[in-house]
Amino acid sequence: MSIASNLNDIKSSLPPHVTLVAVSKTKPVADLMEAYNAGQRIFGENKIQEMTEKWEQMPRDIQWHMIGHVQTNKVKYMAPYVSLIHGVDSLKLLTEINRQAARYRKTINCLLQVHIAEEETKFGMDEAELTTVLTSDEFKQMQNICVTGLMGMATFTEDETQIKKEFTHLKNIFDKLKQSELSEKTLNFKPETLSMGMSGDYKIAIACGSTMVRIGSSIFGSR
Ligand SMILES: *Cc1c(COP(=O)(O)O)cnc(C)c1O
Repeated sequence: MSIASNLNDIKSSLPPHVTLVAVSKTKPVADLMEAYNAGQRIFGENKIQEMTEKWEQMPRDIQWHMIGHVQTNKVKYMAPYVSLIHGVDSLKLLTEINRQAARYRKTINCLLQVHIAEEETKFGMDEAELTTVLTSDEFKQMQNICVTGLMGMATFTEDETQIKKEFTHLKNIFDKLKQSELSEKTLNFKPETLSMGMSGDYKIAIACGSTMVRIGSSIFGSR
């Protein structure tokens, strides 16, 4: 199967309210261009250096999403062009993103990563930490950040019940925040996007309320 046909198959199976991020990490520019020529404009990468190299070589109408864990000292390299950072999991990181965005007089959209999986290795905050960040004075004063939603990764398992439980948990947190006073009163918090679901579990994620799926191997092949 070609990249273009994989992409078209997936796109035609997604409900209209779900945005597709084509996860192109480790893949060469030629592969990304095949997806681009088939109409894809949103690409996800997990390493800033690799993303920046691809950004330099590829058309300017691409939206680049950082989906990996971000080191504070590397934010400056993507600040000029990144359109959404999915894996933000601390006030310290938000502070640095805000600082770099201000240098370019722009607003950078971010998703806060929530820890929903059983594995210790997956990054993210719990519900209490999320609330602490969103209600902090430091956050409210950040004029160059907009938190547009949440992101999460389920446990890597065959157990669909477990995956469903974790995605539902994240959806519940998202809905709670969306309906809270916080989202009415906090100018830089506009929860619209719920980023959950990858190649192996995106159908479950969509059934649980995902609005953005991050799909790599089902489009570009295994890594
Ligand atoms: C690699 C990656 C994906 C895509 O994974 P696939 O299984 O190849 O679809 C999605 N989200 C994150 C955070 C990733 O690192």
